[in-house]
Amino acid sequence: MNIHEYQAKQLFTDFSIPVPRGAVAANAAEAQDAARQLAGSTCVVKAQIHAGARGKAGGVKLARSPEQAGQFAADMLGTRLVTHQTDAAGLPVNSVWIEEASAIKSEFYLSLLLDRESERLIFVASAAGGMDIEAVAAQTPEKIVKVPVHPAAGLQPYHGRQIGAAFGLGKEQQGQLQTILEGIYRLFLAKDCSQIEINPLIETADGRLVALDAKINFDDNALALHPDIAAMRDASQEDAKEAEAKQFDLNYVTLGGNIGCMVNGAGLAMATMDMVKLKGGAPANFLDVGGGTNKDKVKEAFKLILSDGTVKAVLVNIFGGIVKCDVIAAGILAAVEEMHLTIPVVVRLEGTNVEQGKTMLSQSGLGLATADDLNQAAELAVKLAEGVA
Ligand code: GDP
Ligand code: MN
Repeated sequence: MNIHEYQAKQLFTDFSIPVPRGAVAANAAEAQDAARQLAGSTCVVKAQIHAGARGKAGGVKLARSPEQAGQFAADMLGTRLVTHQTDAAGLPVNSVWIEEASAIKSEFYLSLLLDRESERLIFVASAAGGMDIEAVAAQTPEKIVKVPVHPAAGLQPYHGRQIGAAFGLGKEQQGQLQTILEGIYRLFLAKDCSQIEINPLIETADGRLVALDAKINFDDNALALHPDIAAMRDASQEDAKEAEAKQFDLNYVTLGGNIGCMVNGAGLAMATMDMVKLKGGAPANFLDVGGGTNKDKVKEAFKLILSDGTVKAVLVNIFGGIVKCDVIAAGILAAVEEMHLTIPVVVRLEGTNVEQGKTMLSQSGLGLATADDLNQAAELAVKLAEGVA
């Protein structure tokens, strides 16, 4: 799960990582008030969306007065911001973060993430901060240092010295950096993060290290342990279908094709998508209804797929192990009866109570096609989606 910059900066404050003073605002008047409270004459107005690269897209603006801050906020709020990290539709700007302007001397890149290969948390740091780190990695990889932390030994001063050397810090700033690294490391473990990224971490003209930007991703599987973090979810920033699916505990990922796939188990879902591709089609989604599913979940899953305007055919591929095929069939029939079915559906069931399930589908009179194996089912779904069967 992602959170907004203003939420990440609050967590940074809780863990002794310095950030500029600021306040969140949901309308122009609040933004103007917040700017006035900050006293200084200039402030920065930052669109709050779950994506980076806002600066280049007009989502980060330096305001010379509280009035101008209000004006920038009014311009941003209610729009959708498109950056090179979003899709073409962009993400809705429902709030802005108003913060005191910083005088920047240097911009650094600093992140902490899990490196699966070395099975360690690693700090990634670069003196080439403030820009697209992927571009730095591609063009000048020598400008990036990676510092792994042993899980038993934990963070040590020598980690800080390696990163400080990469930044070219003086003695005074080195001490500040150590505090920041400790804060990041503690925060990562305490809240089960999957990534913390500060780009840029700046040195101000008066020699202070400050996190100017803040991005945190969390491990979804640990959210149940952190109700405070879970409460920070902003569904408006997520794919509407994926968010709806989450409510029903369904694993749904939007893809670009036109064949809706309902499958149980991630492995079977992958195999199904491979088969659709092999037959010349393209999946519209990855939908895993899970192992221990029930009629209602199947119904919701099916409705979710049918409500996708780009879907031209649906392929259901279920292996009834724990879940029984007649339960799946009942869910499909309940969904089809509720929705107005206008597109072809191919169902391949296998496993416990498969005959009952198939009989229910064929006797329903709803024109559902059944198939005996995945090969046949995928081929038929691809043909039906192209309108040739
Ligand atoms: P992002 O584009 O979404 O990553 O947003 P950032 O928070 O990183 O801001 C983008 C850029 O705006 C930064 O790299 C800075 O160069 C600039 N910027 C942000 N805040 C300030 C500020 O207070 N003072 C100055 N001078 N520049 C700022
Ligand atoms: Mn940034």
